[in-house]
Amino acid sequence: MDKNLQEEEFTQIIKFKPSLNKQRHQFVRDLVEKYKPKKVADLGCADCSLLRMLKFCSCIEVLAGLDICASVMKEKMHTLSPLPVDYLQPSERSLTVTLHHGSVAHKDPCMLGFDLVTCIELIEHLEESELKKFPEVVFGFMAPSIVVISTPNSEFNPLLPGVMLYRHPDHKFEWNQAQFQSWALETARCYDYSVEFTGVGRPPAGMEKVGFCTQIGVFVRKSPRTGESVQSEKPTEAVYKTVFKAVYPSLKDEKYLQTAVISEVIFTAQIIKHRLMSKREEYGDDPERKSKFQPSMDCFSDYLGKLVIEKNMEPFVNGNEVYIPLATIFSFPKVNRLCGTFEKLCKLIAGKVTLSSDGSAVMLNTEYENEEN
Ligand code: SAH
Repeated sequence: MDKNLQEEEFTQIIKFKPSLNKQRHQFVRDLVEKYKPKKVADLGCADCSLLRMLKFCSCIEVLAGLDICASVMKEKMHTLSPLPVDYLQPSERSLTVTLHHGSVAHKDPCMLGFDLVTCIELIEHLEESELKKFPEVVFGFMAPSIVVISTPNSEFNPLLPGVMLYRHPDHKFEWNQAQFQSWALETARCYDYSVEFTGVGRPPAGMEKVGFCTQIGVFVRKSPRTGESVQSEKPTEAVYKTVFKAVYPSLKDEKYLQTAVISEVIFTAQIIKHRLMSKREEYGDDPERKSKFQPSMDCFSDYLGKLVIEKNMEPFVNGNEVYIPLATIFSFPKVNRLCGTFEKLCKLIAGKVTLSSDGSAVMLNTEYENEEN
């Protein structure tokens, strides 16, 4: 194909793959993987699509969204709720997702304490008066460690099909690279941040001067904030309205930890019992062979059985009961990781799992096993 013709076609039908929106969100996700923030706020969160992606980042414990348009947030906010699987397998981290209705031109204490604040395609939607207040609210008041701001690069617009003045009818302005960079550098200087520029949506080969389709500034706070300075600037009044809150089930919550530990203890005990019963079948009733794997089997009274458990971690059968020492169960990696200490294991299962009279072993009935067979 003629090279000029090829170039002309390229410039007229520029399509980004993945879409520009996906690339912007992936950029934020990469930033999260790099800096591992615990608390992230997305300003101008719209339909919450970025928040939906970020809830899968395991370092994040607090996610908040803010938008001036409540209806756009509410449209899909239910997709931020925990799923049945989240209750079946609670995560090790805690996660709270909250959505607020309000403007980035106003300060609200619920926006304090965040590590990362994202403003993806937001600033170009702000009225002049709002844009003036924006730096003081985000950099002065919220003062997170990192702020990421993306906005259209107007120099790219001639390459986009059908763009007359702005890319979206609600845009109040679109800046070229020099305009965005001078605003960002001045903001960074004022609030003691450093800023680096990058973007997503590469220009076609040979047109690199145009810059990225979406320009991005990543601001990093230079000095750590003391608790005192945050406190002293806290306004007393809340101005945002909370429209959604979801607290995900987490193993940090004793209630979910207990359920997980109980089911893991019973599962582990069942496996041990199953192995023991299979061995018994294999060795039959030959007392000599039996004693090789189970010296304490069958012939002990409860009292003697208790003593054996104290000195021995081997599970054993007494009558219709299988005794599986808690110490054995605790040595299984998953139980061990969930509980941390043996004392915690005992505390969590107390009264919830049938134990031997001295509390040192889980008791299971052999009869169920026989019924199955
Ligand atoms: N961040 C979104 C897209 C944002 S579109 C994404 O990544 O997909 C801009 C959003 O900013 C809109 O939802 C709009 O309602 C919101 N917005 C406009 N002015 C605002 C203001 N003053 N405060 C908060 N949100 C605002």
